[in-house]
Amino acid sequence: MKKMTSFAFLLSILMSLTLISCGPTEKDTGAADVGIPRHVKKLVMATNAEFPPFEFKAEDGSFQGIDIEIMQAICKATGRELVVEDIAFDSIIPAVNSGKADCGVAGMTVTEDRLRNIDFTTPYYEAFQVIVVVKGSTIQGTDDLKGKRIGVQTGTTGDTLASDIEGADMNRFSKGVDAIVALTQNKVDAVVIDNEPAKAFVAKNADKLVILEEPLTKESYAMAVKKGNDELLALLNKQIERIKTDGTLDVIRAKYEGTADAAAE
Ligand code: GLN
Repeated sequence: MKKMTSFAFLLSILMSLTLISCGPTEKDTGAADVGIPRHVKKLVMATNAEFPPFEFKAEDGSFQGIDIEIMQAICKATGRELVVEDIAFDSIIPAVNSGKADCGVAGMTVTEDRLRNIDFTTPYYEAFQVIVVVKGSTIQGTDDLKGKRIGVQTGTTGDTLASDIEGADMNRFSKGVDAIVALTQNKVDAVVIDNEPAKAFVAKNADKLVILEEPLTKESYAMAVKKGNDELLALLNKQIERIKTDGTLDVIRAKYEGTADAAAE
């Protein structure tokens, strides 16, 4: 009898488990391909909100920019709440790998080096590095950077690129804007930085600074996901494809590109 009771108990557990697994599927809730458990309604994005027009803090303290709106659009479509973790750029990959964040979205360039530690989604943006100098500078291109004082943001592709220049005197800053300020104060001779942030920062100092025409590299921005988090990777890839084809990405870009003054606040 006692045996029967425990058997019945076990059976009821088994039945309820079966009921749970027969519950509404991801498709029924419209949240298909969800990369993290459905009961977790948050998606934590690690970024460095010092990179206009991709991510920056508005005067009211809210996070704004192309990356922020892309993630808001993705979260809206997949029924989750976006949480923005604003940290140093070179802490983003460690934050994703430790699980502190689900993904890194920070105008982050896909590089072979980074691919060793992290997976990247399909690229969603094509960018390039540029050289920013003071007006009238003798620096007119990459060759003129040899032996010069170069300002960069720590851990960026601009940092890697400039570090390879012969005799470069590297000046690393935690924010791109600090490198730009150093340039206006004649503490560095040039800044190597991504094209859109360069536009945003130079617009704030249009009387003093210029961007050299010759681009240094062609790069692709993608989102970083922990290696092995294939479900989230698939979800993000699917959403990137969607926002590219349904016009969402174009609308977001149009809102921020060419509004350098507002973005550089
Ligand atoms: N695209 C550059 C990189 O990935 C800079 C990104 C940034 O500073 N947010 O290194």
